[in-house]
Amino acid sequence: MAMLNELTIAEAGAGLAAGDFTARELTDVYLAAMDAATGLNAYTAPTPERAQNMADASDARRVLGDTLGPLDGIPLAVKDLFCTEGVLSTAGSHILQGFVPPYESTVTRNLWDAGAVMLGKVNMDEFAMGSANITSHYGPTINPWKAGSAAAAGKDLVPGGSSGGSAAAVAARIAAGATGTDTGGSIRQPGAFCGIVGMKPTYGRCSRWGIIAFASSLDQAGPLARTVEDSALMLQAMAGYDPKDSTSVEQPVPDYAAAMTGDIRGLRVGVPAEYRMDGTPPEIEALWQQGIDWLRDAGAEIVDISLPHTKYALPAYYIVAPAEASSNLARYDGVRYGLRVEGEDLIDTYERTRAEGFGAEVQRRIMIGTYVLSAGYYDAYYLKAQRVRTRIADDFRDAWGICDVILTPTTPSAAFAIGEKMGDPIAMYLNDIFTVPASMAGLPAISVPAGLSGDGLPLGLHMIAPAFGEESLFRAAGVLETAAGFDARP
Ligand code: GLN
Repeated sequence: MAMLNELTIAEAGAGLAAGDFTARELTDVYLAAMDAATGLNAYTAPTPERAQNMADASDARRVLGDTLGPLDGIPLAVKDLFCTEGVLSTAGSHILQGFVPPYESTVTRNLWDAGAVMLGKVNMDEFAMGSANITSHYGPTINPWKAGSAAAAGKDLVPGGSSGGSAAAVAARIAAGATGTDTGGSIRQPGAFCGIVGMKPTYGRCSRWGIIAFASSLDQAGPLARTVEDSALMLQAMAGYDPKDSTSVEQPVPDYAAAMTGDIRGLRVGVPAEYRMDGTPPEIEALWQQGIDWLRDAGAEIVDISLPHTKYALPAYYIVAPAEASSNLARYDGVRYGLRVEGEDLIDTYERTRAEGFGAEVQRRIMIGTYVLSAGYYDAYYLKAQRVRTRIADDFRDAWGICDVILTPTTPSAAFAIGEKMGDPIAMYLNDIFTVPASMAGLPAISVPAGLSGDGLPLGLHMIAPAFGEESLFRAAGVLETAAGFDARP
């Protein structure tokens, strides 16, 4: 049974259906692998007993001939940003110390209703602010990939962030799949750094209810998995309208896996000129060109497109996201949730609690956010950034007149060593240069592992589709995945 954690979600589902093994056996293999990989610091709260109970319940359903869900018996990890009933949920922050929600987020509820098994909560950047999983109160998660000059120097690599625990767990085969959230790139970038698939759906496709808020107009849940098909299967279960989230969209969830026909003949693939940025390493450019060639060879039509406001996306994001964060994080006051540091009076208690409870990056974002929202600066920064955001969305709208999907690199580099870029927030923010524009426009996007860097580390290719164009996105991503034939592993 030792190799059961090598199976994809689709393969494990078929094996369970055929009676080759039980959900309990599959879960126990994952739990043993988790025990052997604690050094990665991927799990913040493993839930082995709950996992075994859920697996036993799945096996019982199967034996009794009860209705089975599409993910019945599949063991998954959950980013610590999702509230899980009765299980510690802290957003990787000290300020939520000891917070055990009395309710379940809609996305995780949907997964359990689909029969999935919860292995535990996984690490992340504090409140999902980061690109390296180094801002967590639990310490950094380590990328299971060990290669290149950093590894030769004995240094561990970052898994990317903020969904770094999710990506590391899936890549290290200590979860079959994991939930993540993406505000500016936090599913796709760690997916690329860990050599797996990371998918951010259209804003509104998954309910945000029960997901601890970072920037509410950008946050979106999505899957991290080893294959495009697995991502499609997971999203299918996660997505859907939820009356408890007024921004979730009432549209039927299509059969995403069925959309992966393997046929992209005639599909128009846009290549945006503005993503050819100065300083992009030649190996990233070369992989992008390789991706273009793969899709053309599969019958796609390649179109040059322009997204003129691309260069303003990152600066505008770093106004909008902190503004919303400063407002969302105002609720952590030492009175209602988690940590409380007693002070001389109420104001002093607020101040001490927030000073001790929030890490440096979160405090930086709160300060930027309150600054850009303050009287006198609101028009100059926040309102301006909102206008830029509209222009970015308009750029994409224009592009959809001449193309069906857009192909770009996912990240400007492969995974870097823990410790690098830590003293320079701007260098860290630049990690999201290729992923942020789709977030600002609310569009679905996916990162597919497509090749290795000169250092032997995974690199991803990124595709963007129109709102609710997940089906064409999965179809194109499936073709890209087949062409790339990426089978390297940590
Ligand atoms: N790295 C970006 C940030 O720090 C994006 C994070 C995210 O998508 N949650 O804001």
